Amino acid sequence: MRNILQRIGKRGLPLGKLNYIMATFTLLISVLLLFATRRTSSGYAAMRNMENNYIEWQQCANDLLAASDYLTEQVRGFVTTGNRDYLDCYFEEINVTKRREAALETLHEGLGGTDSYLRAKAAVKQSESLTSQEIYAIRLALDAFGEDPQTYPRVIRTLSILPQDDALGQREKLDLARSMVFDNFYVRKKAAISENMQLCFADLVKQNERQQTAAEGEMNLLLHTQQTLITLLIAIILMIVAMTSILVINPLIRSVLHIQDEEAIPIRGSSEFRFLASTYNIMFETNREKKEKLAYEASHDKLTGLYNRAGYDFLLKNTVMDTCALLIIDVDKFKNVNDTYGHDMGDRVLAHVASVLRDSFRPTDYICRIGGDEFAAIMVRSGSQFKGLIDEKVKRINQKLQNPENGLPPTSVSVGTAFGDSKHSTGDIVKDADLALYKVKQNGRCGCAFYD
Ligand code: GH3
Ligand code: MG
Repeated sequence: MRNILQRIGKRGLPLGKLNYIMATFTLLISVLLLFATRRTSSGYAAMRNMENNYIEWQQCANDLLAASDYLTEQVRGFVTTGNRDYLDCYFEEINVTKRREAALETLHEGLGGTDSYLRAKAAVKQSESLTSQEIYAIRLALDAFGEDPQTYPRVIRTLSILPQDDALGQREKLDLARSMVFDNFYVRKKAAISENMQLCFADLVKQNERQQTAAEGEMNLLLHTQQTLITLLIAIILMIVAMTSILVINPLIRSVLHIQDEEAIPIRGSSEFRFLASTYNIMFETNREKKEKLAYEASHDKLTGLYNRAGYDFLLKNTVMDTCALLIIDVDKFKNVNDTYGHDMGDRVLAHVASVLRDSFRPTDYICRIGGDEFAAIMVRSGSQFKGLIDEKVKRINQKLQNPENGLPPTSVSVGTAFGDSKHSTGDIVKDADLALYKVKQNGRCGCAFYD
């Protein structure tokens, strides 16, 4: 791990791999988020469905209880008044509407096997057993009211009365029929039906609460998962932004500034960018070296290493000569050296003269070879008061040249000097120095003259 970190620190993070990893993570989290969102919406649909089912089952249980109460009402109405309309309504409920059966059927489909269903089933059973009792009471009442049972539904027609009941008088038959649907036994049975249905309601409520709690738990988990995934996604997006600016944008902006300033680029950012930067730096360095070499070659003399004519002209143009002294130095009778010792020896003498000159002036002064055996020295911050010093300098130079220690033939130089601060200048310091040189050559060479 430490090795990997060290390697990353050295080479930078690879942008390609990083991009691939980030894209994979983003895709993975997005897919998970999509999945969680779909699960949440189907969870909501399930909750809605659950709520609708609960309402429907409540309605069924209500129907069941209402149907039982309705039958009681009708049978009691008939045995009390003898009005046939009650019977029509009664049999309509039993044979056509059949609310109890329909409700039980629906509860069976949704809740079969549960406590609520078993309670409802028990209530229906109790209600049906009451129905048999009610039909017997109706049959007795019909007899008591002197009605012909043959004009009534089959269940009435086919019902046979117990012999002891048949033996009763009309009034007694009616009393018996009424007591069968009003007495305590009947009321207790009704209460039992009602109790079963109350328990059924209570079970339904409990079951609904249980389902709601489970669904809420699942929804909370899903919402929490979504929040976590969204947080992760935001974190990854922020990481991508940070990585892009650290690895690419910032190094790029800095590089542009360095390129504009003609400098090397700092090696930073991703490994790919570091590679680009180091390649650019190598090219930049090579180019700069080439330029410097070209500039040096263009302004320097190959034989002596001093500034050449072009360099000298440039210096004259770009130096404030008012505070300088210009010395034009010509080797005396140099043709003879060439003629006597050959051109190669002549070259060595020229190089030696250059070396003596370089050692004789300050490092801040400019020494140039401006022609074949002609040199120049631009002494900066030097006025007419330096005459004595320059004279001394030329003497020392000639002393060295006349006593060479390296097997070279002795030689000497004539030096014409002009000052930028001269009161009698022709206006051209070079011309002034040339005139002074001419004077030395005229006066026998190997010396120094000043233009005044
Ligand atoms: P004076 O004292 O009047 O200056 O006499 P001089 O012989 O030095 O005459 P002048 O300065 O006119 O001659 C310069 C000679 O330098 C002429 C040329 O043959 C020789 N020369 C010019 N350039 C080179 C060079 O690069 N190498 C060599 N060996 N000789 C050169
Ligand atoms: Mg000469």
